Amino acid sequence: MRIPFLSQEGCCRVCGRSVENAAGGFVCEECRRSGPFYDAAASAVVFEDDARALLLKYKSGEGVWLKDDLVDWIAAAAGARYDLAEVDAVVPMPITLFHRIDRGYNQCVYLARSIAKHIDRACLESVVARCGHPKRQAGLSEEERRENVIGTFKVIDPKPVRGRTILLLDDVMATGSTLSECAKTLKEAGAWRVWAVTLARSVR
Ligand SMILES: [Zn+2]
Repeated sequence: MRIPFLSQEGCCRVCGRSVENAAGGFVCEECRRSGPFYDAAASAVVFEDDARALLLKYKSGEGVWLKDDLVDWIAAAAGARYDLAEVDAVVPMPITLFHRIDRGYNQCVYLARSIAKHIDRACLESVVARCGHPKRQAGLSEEERRENVIGTFKVIDPKPVRGRTILLLDDVMATGSTLSECAKTLKEAGAWRVWAVTLARSVR
């Protein structure tokens, strides 16, 4: 089995993308140009090979037994990149009701609960909601992806995020536009910092 783990060093300080010869504090051109709303993003593995197969299995609801390993991966990536003692709460990326009906459950919530337990923090499951029905992000250009997700999140209860450092958890990061939009909404609701962590990342 080949699991392509990502290094948390030698990468862009903001998006976490691996960049050759990147030293501490390096910010990639893309982040300088587009300025994502999350403060930083980290991912555990590359979304390919066996990692992709395992993740899809877990997402489908078949590979529930994989959860503990996946939680270890996320905890290791987040722990290498962030000072987890400074995290106040964990927020799972919300999915639309449509997707929930389609897949039956939001697998991200289960992972977020475990991570929250691991670092002894609250898991804020219904603080952010997804509204509207954006098109699928797959197949869209980076610009289209950004526009497609604008205004699709809503903070239902700002109280627990105000002034806080939030660990925002999602399964797969592609361009990061969904994470950025969600982070923007959290910040508008008063969150101080949003640190994103995803299980996997598509590497172009
Ligand atoms: Zn970057």
